[in-house]
Amino acid sequence: MTFSPTPASSVHMTPNQDLIDQAKNLIESDFPAKLATLGQLVRIPGIAWDAFDANELERSAEAVAELFRKSGVFDQVEIKWASFEGVPGAPAVLASRQAKNGKPHVLLYAHHDVQPPGDEDLWLSPAFEPTARDGRIYGRGAADDKAGVITHLAAVEALKSLIGEDFDLGISIFIEGEEEAGSRTFRAFLDENRDKLAADAIIVADSMNWSPEIPALTVSLRGVVAIDFEVRTMEHAVHSGMFGGAIPDAMIPMIKVLASLHDDKGNVAVKGLKTYKFEDLPYTDANLRQDSSLLPEVSQIGDGGLMDRLWGKPALTVIGLDAPSVAKSSNTLMPSARAAISMRIAPGQDPNEALEALKAHLTENVPFGAVIEFGKSETGKPFMAETSGWAAQLAKNSLAAAFGNPAVDIGIGGSIPFIADLTEVFPDAQILVTGVEDADSRAHSPNESIHLVGLKNAMVAEALFLLSCNQLVKE
Ligand SMILES: [Zn+2]
Repeated sequence: MTFSPTPASSVHMTPNQDLIDQAKNLIESDFPAKLATLGQLVRIPGIAWDAFDANELERSAEAVAELFRKSGVFDQVEIKWASFEGVPGAPAVLASRQAKNGKPHVLLYAHHDVQPPGDEDLWLSPAFEPTARDGRIYGRGAADDKAGVITHLAAVEALKSLIGEDFDLGISIFIEGEEEAGSRTFRAFLDENRDKLAADAIIVADSMNWSPEIPALTVSLRGVVAIDFEVRTMEHAVHSGMFGGAIPDAMIPMIKVLASLHDDKGNVAVKGLKTYKFEDLPYTDANLRQDSSLLPEVSQIGDGGLMDRLWGKPALTVIGLDAPSVAKSSNTLMPSARAAISMRIAPGQDPNEALEALKAHLTENVPFGAVIEFGKSETGKPFMAETSGWAAQLAKNSLAAAFGNPAVDIGIGGSIPFIADLTEVFPDAQILVTGVEDADSRAHSPNESIHLVGLKNAMVAEALFLLSCNQLVKE
């Protein structure tokens, strides 16, 4: 059954100043200890890819489980793993505490595995040695997503310290161990542990805030549609001097159909695709150029605001093209050519409809009657948060109170595939994708780091969110 708060509960939807001050003071005094704990986690190189030592992942899961055991908040803290196609996944930490007296249940998600370090020569300090520099902590996982783990820990401990251990709010913790390796057993884990994970609100602390001072709620993720296809014009290759000019080689229709996918301004020209409108945020042409390495001579593409184009509109890329290489080229009319297309789709778009629209476009626009044949396709659903619910409202109020600035809505141009699993298994839960990272965190890259002010603010915000949830009363 879905939790809905009584109208009287709405007085608690904004944390009062007393509570804000208490939470801030508590997190402030506890912050050095939490940074030390974050450092201990960063020292464990738990990487869920086959080429890396699986013992480190177990050590990582054990260290995280011990933190939540010591918090004294949970009825049960376990290390568990699920299997997919008979192959066991990485160890996850699952902790839970039942809700009492009609209070809601909140699930807090983060992941303890990290990306490999990459080129170690590019790190200014060793990847797995937490290092403080310029108001930030550097190290692999310091942001993505061990900062998420520590934020959850700080928030539940603050709740216990401020209102005592006998509180009524239900809380589950799920710290996944293979997010960076594609969350292979995520769905099985949800299905097998549905009872302990079921919640009214789910916080996925694996995204970013706009800056250390400006909080953000990630309200949308684009989905993805990928397909490869072949264009054929002849049974076999022929001499270009003998037949060129009278019959098309496969590259002519291939190039024309690929060129038809964008209009002259660079907008995706496939008909029937949805778009979603975002508020513009302070992100300039110069920011975009610097972040993307766009050459100074080259212009941006597409109509509309920058946020719309990055998060709310489709984007289409030809990611592969099979044709003779320049080195092996000869004066030949080629009978066939293959291409692979990856298309990001707007929040709210059905991926199968988008795939059909793309196929229809390719079929209609391939010239000269060239034969087009589709190969394998893949789809990933977009995500659009339900921001009108009580949990989103509470989260925004808590973020504003903690950071001292209102929360902005942001999107992500890419996808977090497991969000679709959460929405399918727990259709009634409100999913809140929150941030610990900031724009300079460089997750996945060398010199990953977390800004200390942003991290502290994220801890206060989550503590305030839990404190407020605990004050809600069921209708
Ligand atoms: Zn992550």
